[in-house]
Amino acid sequence: MRRVFGGVEGGGTKFKLLIGTDPHDIVAQAQIPTTTPDETLERVIAFFRRPDIELAAVGCASFGPIDLDTRSPTYGCITTTPKPGWAYTNVVRTLGSELGVPVAWETDTAGAALGEYTWGAGRHIEVLVYVTVGTGIGGAVLINGRPVHGLLHAEMGHVLVPVADGDTFAGICPYHGQCLEGMASGPALRARTGRPGETIAPDDPIWDLEAAYLGAGLHQIGYVLSPQKIIVGGGVPQTPHLLEKIRRQVTSLNHGYLAHPALSGGIRDYIVPPGLGADAGVIGALELARQSLQSHADQVRP
Ligand code: ZN
Repeated sequence: MRRVFGGVEGGGTKFKLLIGTDPHDIVAQAQIPTTTPDETLERVIAFFRRPDIELAAVGCASFGPIDLDTRSPTYGCITTTPKPGWAYTNVVRTLGSELGVPVAWETDTAGAALGEYTWGAGRHIEVLVYVTVGTGIGGAVLINGRPVHGLLHAEMGHVLVPVADGDTFAGICPYHGQCLEGMASGPALRARTGRPGETIAPDDPIWDLEAAYLGAGLHQIGYVLSPQKIIVGGGVPQTPHLLEKIRRQVTSLNHGYLAHPALSGGIRDYIVPPGLGADAGVIGALELARQSLQSHADQVRP
């Protein structure tokens, strides 16, 4: 029987599931809609209960905010989500007790960052940032392949950005109004224009404004964390030419202050699209599962 890992990427609208050991060795994959916690997790469990595999561990990269503090009574929970029924759902406990294997737990962006670090555009990058721009804006930082946790986890999408001259949009973040997510996420674009981003022409001037905000966000993230690479994933940056506009904005905001090639001629190697595309999160969850076994082995080794 094959010894494999399970990967789960839990999203607000769908869960992506994977069984395998790496992107080139996938035994099975599926997508299920996110409905109620009970129904969704039941389908996740059913997917992993297969007679032809020996499941060693499961990695779960989830939408959040999530509790990552192993000493906390709510570790393994999605915490204050407005998504009906999901607040304080303990995903780790449910999957662990039903499947009888260790369950590793991370944010969806950290899962994607880990996938990119292991197999994608961020290989061998000591200080790596992954930012996703879609339904929300999130970010994760990995130091030598380990996601950084502190008080909670990074919330790069909620940094404040300077409001562009003449922009009267109030922003859609219920907590901060005009934070990066409030001004530049997919729903913010839709609220500004009345149209989903994928239907807006690539030469529409709205993309210059979008790039101004995303560029300001990446400028701050770059200055604070000094990453060697920033991977920009999610649906919005797939708009033709948008990533190039963001790069120009970051170079321009630097004003030549940091004299590193990454911020001038080398910017195409500094701000990059994901190597694993939209599957970085669920693929990274396989690596999360593998790492959880490794850290367990380290703990029990005398
Ligand atoms: Zn916010």
